[in-house]
Amino acid sequence: MTTHTTRMLILGSGPAGLSAAIYGARAGMAPIVVQGIQPGGQLTTTTDVENYPGFREVIQGPWLMEEMQAQAEHVGTRLMYDTIVEVDLSRRPFRLIGDGGDVYEGETLVIATGAQARWLGLDSEELLKGKGVSACATCDGFFYRGKKVAVIGGGNTAVEEALYLTNHSDEVTLIHRRDSLRAEKILQERLFANDKIKVLWNKGVECFIDGGGTAGLVGIELRDTVSGALSTIDVAGGFVAIGHHPATELFRGHIDLDDDHYIAVETGSTRTSVAGVFACGDVMDKVYRQAITAAGTGCMAALDAERFLAEVEFEEMREAAE
Ligand code: NDP
Repeated sequence: MTTHTTRMLILGSGPAGLSAAIYGARAGMAPIVVQGIQPGGQLTTTTDVENYPGFREVIQGPWLMEEMQAQAEHVGTRLMYDTIVEVDLSRRPFRLIGDGGDVYEGETLVIATGAQARWLGLDSEELLKGKGVSACATCDGFFYRGKKVAVIGGGNTAVEEALYLTNHSDEVTLIHRRDSLRAEKILQERLFANDKIKVLWNKGVECFIDGGGTAGLVGIELRDTVSGALSTIDVAGGFVAIGHHPATELFRGHIDLDDDHYIAVETGSTRTSVAGVFACGDVMDKVYRQAITAAGTGCMAALDAERFLAEVEFEEMREAAE
């Protein structure tokens, strides 16, 4: 069992955690990043990335994360592979304990554990992920320009994604399992006013249809949730928008979460309910969820942590001098 200590402990190694590390390292905080079970985060399961600034050509998600990691290490970040099983945020330094018994102590803690999209759990969905089936219209909608697409879900995300997709497609179908939407009224009004969007009520996805060969998704088989009748629609893109799971189980009871289990932060900052603990990326953001916004809030978290420690240490020095 080893104890690792740092001025800035970062949990999570997606764009948020690694951006926090780059800024933290350059501010002399000698950060430690503890990488979880998916080092590099969601981008490591993404292929083409066309919307991360700085790259004219399409780049690959895993390559981008390798570069971010190399950059973080180059400026002095220590990367550790461990699965944290216990946290103690009741006093500083904050303590995180790995499943092998290693202890990580941080004068500040940056939580960047991310979120995972929820999927329907169908075999055909798994088979066609990245070949027509996606959980992010903002990321992948552009690849389906001029084609018919569908969004599955009835919450804010589904409605926003359907509206967003009308930038690329004149035929967007929203598929919802009930006969009313959960999304906010204002979004519903925009949806119903948009003649590029058709809503199919009381429909569940039975199967995503594979066109075979390199065709990918060619349609969706639907089951009426009231009558049980089957029908199909032709689409080249299917966007599953049925919610996300923020990775916050570890922090439940230790820090304030919002109603959707995301880490609650003060508006306009990354400060959480525990002084000295900061949150960034998808674990605190249910609205934007982009690599670039995660990286942006990662930068904010490092700056917030650095300022917090400077203030605390100044106070401690003043008290000691009195
Ligand atoms: P929600 O949990 O709000 O909605 C999920 C939707 O998916 C529901 O309509 C639900 O149906 C449907 N659904 C869930 N499971 C299944 C399934 N197995 N099969 C078919 N349909 C399913 O998730 P969102 O991602 O939309 O939003 C999460 C949170 O983030 C919310 O608080 C939302 O307000 C917020 N948000 C805010 C935004 C903003 O402020 N601009 C943008 C995006 C999200 P049913 O209704 O029948 O339960």
